[in-house]
Amino acid sequence: MSAKILDGRKTREALMPGLIAKIKALPCAPILAIIQVGDRPDSTSFIGAKQNFAKKLGIQVKHIKLAENVPQSDLIEHIKSLNSDKTVQGIIVQLPIPAHLERNTVINAIEPSKDVDALTPTNVSKWQKGESIIPATARGVRELLDLYKISLKGKKVAVVGRSDLVGKPIASMCMNEGAAVTVCHSKTPDLAAETKGADIVIVAVGKPRLIGKDHVSSGQVIIDVGINTIEGEKLDDEIPGKKLVGDVDFEAVKDVVSAISPVPGGVGPMTVLAFFENLVDLSR
Ligand code: NAD
Repeated sequence: MSAKILDGRKTREALMPGLIAKIKALPCAPILAIIQVGDRPDSTSFIGAKQNFAKKLGIQVKHIKLAENVPQSDLIEHIKSLNSDKTVQGIIVQLPIPAHLERNTVINAIEPSKDVDALTPTNVSKWQKGESIIPATARGVRELLDLYKISLKGKKVAVVGRSDLVGKPIASMCMNEGAAVTVCHSKTPDLAAETKGADIVIVAVGKPRLIGKDHVSSGQVIIDVGINTIEGEKLDDEIPGKKLVGDVDFEAVKDVVSAISPVPGGVGPMTVLAFFENLVDLSR
């Protein structure tokens, strides 16, 4: 039997009216500031997706573009000025940033009450305890599972990937929801043994189709966070000239597992929604 598709686009449509109602109830529509350093095409496309979605919600985005070689002190000055700007409710520095900039110093300059990505040390220690907003991908995963009534409580969850922005917040969120979590990464000796033994497998690695038939077992729920563009295969219309695939080999596992989030159309749309839910939470 083919797995149930956990459809992030439909879930987002279902949750949007609630978010718009929350925005309308605010004293004034929030303003989001996005600082982009340099011209990476992937960053430009992620920012574009946020700008388009913000328009649908009636949220204004200030896009501040700085030169690739901007001195760190100038970047910090921009952040400080946004920190004290009372009209701005959320600030993000689009990652990754060029190598001459110290990521932690830059992120730590953001005022925690405006830190929509929840990456400042103050916010990291709060979401680890389940006390504040969590980074958008983790929130998006939780809401996708919620809508399909898939509970994390008492489940064995394998999270593959341990990055600060994606894997770790997902693992924390699952623990805070009552799951028994195993975090796997590039040094995990037997990845398939870890993933096969879980009830829910959440994969955030960035390697096309890493998880195949040998990594899954029947009845599992698979959440594919990975977004990879590959060439040389039949194209779809998501990005002109490119094909998007996840970290899971969808075709290979879909007849084994009980539910799976597709790429595209799974966690990606949920992350954008969750990002603005975080902004609205910070604005209240
Ligand atoms: P990252 O490169 O920072 O982290 C990758 C993680 O994967 C690391 O912890 C590494 O140890 C682990 N890893 C690498 N090779 C492995 C292997 N062979 N087996 C097991 N683990 C391995 O990447 P990231 O920023 O965490 O992003 C991961 C993926 O999620 C990327 O494809 C990214 O595009 C995608 N992403 C998707 C969304 C979304 O909304 N769907 C949001 C953010 C990131």
